[in-house]
Amino acid sequence: MVFLNNVSASYDNRQVIRGISMRVNKGSMVGVVGKNGSGKTTLLRLISGIMNPDSGEVFITGKPLKTYARMELARVVACLVQNQDSGVPFSVEELVKLGRWPHRGNSNADHRAIVNEAMVRADVLQFATRPFETLSGGEKQRALIASCLAQEPRILLLDEPTNHMDLCHQLSFMHLLKQLVAKINLTVVVILHDLNMAIEYCDEIHMLMNGRILRSGTPAEVITSESVSACFDTASTIIRNPCSGLPLVIPMHPEK
Ligand code: ADP
Repeated sequence: MVFLNNVSASYDNRQVIRGISMRVNKGSMVGVVGKNGSGKTTLLRLISGIMNPDSGEVFITGKPLKTYARMELARVVACLVQNQDSGVPFSVEELVKLGRWPHRGNSNADHRAIVNEAMVRADVLQFATRPFETLSGGEKQRALIASCLAQEPRILLLDEPTNHMDLCHQLSFMHLLKQLVAKINLTVVVILHDLNMAIEYCDEIHMLMNGRILRSGTPAEVITSESVSACFDTASTIIRNPCSGLPLVIPMHPEK
């Protein structure tokens, strides 16, 4: 579904992505973890076509990303990046409707029902007529996610989507993603800071360090006390989560 072949990228001649190759299978949820500045957001920019690689190539559904027309790409890939939450002069419903723009030529689609369903799924229907700017951080995030869902993408790219959300909405949002992956074969690439959330919800995790992939695989393969120490400079104990049987990271505070 998404394939990066030896991709490198830089800002102002400073290389921040260094020869990354990765494959994301259709209908899977893939987490990207790593320290601040390790290149996670840049990786999403490359996959969404916001940024071009210096070398290497990105393929979306088997086709080189650079051969997609903008609208064509928007029908396949939706991207929620950070800091999109200011300067939106719309109501929540208007914002969510904007998610339909790549499909506006499709007169067979029930755009209204799709917008409504997206708002229900993201739990923002009760804010439909509220100006976006008046929502709290977590509510804004959910409204932006509803707009992405209304886009009906096959691939959803999310940069720390649970930022600002309370625990209940974090869990219900991750659960929603998992359901969409199972039900409609959505492919999700999600940057997460919460390693335990990534372990519980992702099929695979890519651990980034200094623009390179340090480890890739299932959560149990990737998240070990060695890799957490190498990637995050943080000592941790990994135990078995008694509920899921998956690894559970317990960070150790340096002064304790
Ligand atoms: P992460 O998402 O893992 O925190 P980023 O991909 O945002 O990392 O950043 C990787 C590196 O690229 C960092 O050193 C960051 O300072 C730099 N960087 C990110 N965006 C820009 C930009 N627009 N211009 C210059 N440097 C940037």
